[in-house]
Amino acid sequence: MASNIILLGPPGAGKGTQAELTVEKLDVPHIATGDILRTAVSEGTELGLKARKYMDAGDLVPDELVVQIVRDRLKQADCADGFVLDGFPRTIEQAEALDEALGELETTKPLVVNMQVDDEILVKRLSGRRMCDNCGAIFHISRDDVESGDTCPKPDCDGTIYQRSDDRPEAIRQRLAVYKEQTEPLIQYYNGKGQLVEVDASDSIERVNDTVMAALRDRGIG
Ligand code: AMP
Repeated sequence: MASNIILLGPPGAGKGTQAELTVEKLDVPHIATGDILRTAVSEGTELGLKARKYMDAGDLVPDELVVQIVRDRLKQADCADGFVLDGFPRTIEQAEALDEALGELETTKPLVVNMQVDDEILVKRLSGRRMCDNCGAIFHISRDDVESGDTCPKPDCDGTIYQRSDDRPEAIRQRLAVYKEQTEPLIQYYNGKGQLVEVDASDSIERVNDTVMAALRDRGIG
């Protein structure tokens, strides 16, 4: 059985942070569509040029672009024993396309970890979030001693800390609205298929990860 995992939840739930901790423990790849798209934007590729305007506005990039990225990625050899998907699927159409792709690959149906956090906490997490433009590490101004423009504190990284353009107030509001309208229906979708596990993700990073790992072990992963 492959360790196929989807982290579902609103922006700011901690999907990226928990994905990093989980892939370290399970030794499977972390597939984050947001990271892939941000790299495409910063490199100015054709995909990046198409995606940028949606991302800056806090809207979703069209399904066909994102589905193709994930289809291609899942075919690679390092996904054979599992993967952690972070930020995908975000619409019912994407979930159906993923079911189809995984069916073609004849792999295990993914376990979907739904990370629940109240809106008030999400806004605080997103507005204080900072990232490294080189290693992609995630920081928070209330927890880590970093600000935009600083050099990344991670060992062997000389990247620069920045604030994502979509972590500014208007884009945050739009992303939360888009989540409720387009992504939240996935909770029902996966619950109906018996693939969903709920996790309270409002606690500290370490405690949430303990809960996530325990939920995975309960379902025979890790
Ligand atoms: P994230 O880093 O997951 O918060 O994603 C940042 C932005 O990338 C989102 O607000 C969307 O504009 C875009 N994006 C990432 N994943 C997807 C997806 N699965 N479907 C559509 N757009 C996406």
